Amino acid sequence: MKIKRQINSFLNQQKELFGNELFTYSLNKSTKKKTLLNRESYALEKYENSINLCQECSLGKTRNNFVFGSGDYNADLMLIGDVPGVNEDSQGVPFMGREGKLLDRILSAIGKNRRSDVYLANILKCYIPQNRNPLFSEISKCESYLFKQIEFINPKVILAFGRISGKVLLNMDLPLEKLRENVHDFKGIPLRVTYHPASLLRNPDFKKETWKDFKWANTFLKN
Ligand code: SF4
Repeated sequence: MKIKRQINSFLNQQKELFGNELFTYSLNKSTKKKTLLNRESYALEKYENSINLCQECSLGKTRNNFVFGSGDYNADLMLIGDVPGVNEDSQGVPFMGREGKLLDRILSAIGKNRRSDVYLANILKCYIPQNRNPLFSEISKCESYLFKQIEFINPKVILAFGRISGKVLLNMDLPLEKLRENVHDFKGIPLRVTYHPASLLRNPDFKKETWKDFKWANTFLKN
C-alpha cells in the first residue's frame, strides 16, 4: 500500500508539472532528450517570438509569414536551405510543397522524419518575391538569426542545401560541386553541402549524389 501511495503521489506531482504527458526519470538517452527538449524548446520559442516581427530588410514588408524553422529542438541533424519559397511563405514552415514531400521521402529512407529527428531552417526567414537570389544586404541582416538557431539546436552534423547556403555558412564562394567535395567545419560542427531538394525536382540526376550525402550524415550520426 505504501508503494501505491508513493506512485500516486509521484504521478500527481508529474501531472502538476507536465499535464498529461508522463516523463520518467530513468537515465536512458530518450528521457534525457525529452527533458532537454522542454528546456530547449522554451528558449528557442522565446527567441523566435523576439524576432518574428523583424523589419530589418524590405522582405519584412512583402512576406505573408515569418519562416523561422521547424522540427526537433534537440535534433542531431540540422538541414539548412537558403530562402523560403511561396509554399513556405503561405504556411510559415520550411520545406513545404513538392520539394518538402521529396525531402520527407529522403528522410524516411534513412529512417528519420521532419518532426522528431531533424531541425529545418533557412538562411533567410522571409520569402523573396519572384524568387530572385538574396542580396548581400538581406543576408547580412538575417544570417545572425540562423547562427543563433544553430547555437540553440547544437546539432552533431549539418547538411546545407545549395550553393547559397554553403557560401553563407562557410564564407566560401565556390561552385556547389566544389563545395560538395569536402566535409567542412562550421564552428566545430561537421557540415556537408548538398543539392537543394527544389533542384532535385528540376534535375533528378542530382538525386544519386544527394542520397550519398544523406547516407554520409546518417552513418556519421550512428558512429
Ligand atoms: S529576411 Fe530576415 S532580416 Fe529581412 S525582414 Fe525577414 S527576418 Fe528580417
